[in-house]
Amino acid sequence: MDRISWNQYFMAQSHLLALRSTCTRLAVGATIVRDKRIIAGGYNGSIAGGEHCIDDGCYVIDNHCVRTIHAEMNAILQCAKFGVPTSDAEIYVTHFPCLQCCKAIIQAGIKTVYYAQDYKNHPYGIVLFEKAGVNTVQVEAERVSFDDSKQEKLEFIESLIDELEKNGKHEDQVKSYKETKDKLFQN
Ligand SMILES: [Zn+2]
Ligand SMILES: [Zn+2]
Repeated sequence: MDRISWNQYFMAQSHLLALRSTCTRLAVGATIVRDKRIIAGGYNGSIAGGEHCIDDGCYVIDNHCVRTIHAEMNAILQCAKFGVPTSDAEIYVTHFPCLQCCKAIIQAGIKTVYYAQDYKNHPYGIVLFEKAGVNTVQVEAERVSFDDSKQEKLEFIESLIDELEKNGKHEDQVKSYKETKDKLFQN
């Protein structure tokens, strides 16, 4: 069994948090880490007790949904609420932070931003990160599988492909099935 890296583990946490998002426009997750420990997490959603975009629709002004607090802000504010220092911490985000979040990340003393995908990366945000000495690292998001019957499924599909091969199915067709199988079951 392959052991997942710290980067994959923390990024997976952010992807999991993104599933809690209540905004229909974009689902973002953020995890703040210090000394390889998760100290806070957030997703983009309404303030506690507020209406949710998924129920009432987004509140859009100038093409932005203003109802939600961004994932990074929520994670930083969780630290503020419970008195947890963010100085020299790292943050894992599913999307490159917006300009406002870039500033908040710098001001919170966070030193490294790991992000899974580019998202309208603001040039001024990038300049501010450079000036503040904040590193940005793109982390390839690998799919973390929790499929307990993966091996059984793989063996079943392989037996079906063998059967097709024995029954004289066209070689190219069998090859393409095998490629699809490899793609689906790669780690
Ligand atoms: Zn929204
Ligand atoms: Zn933001």
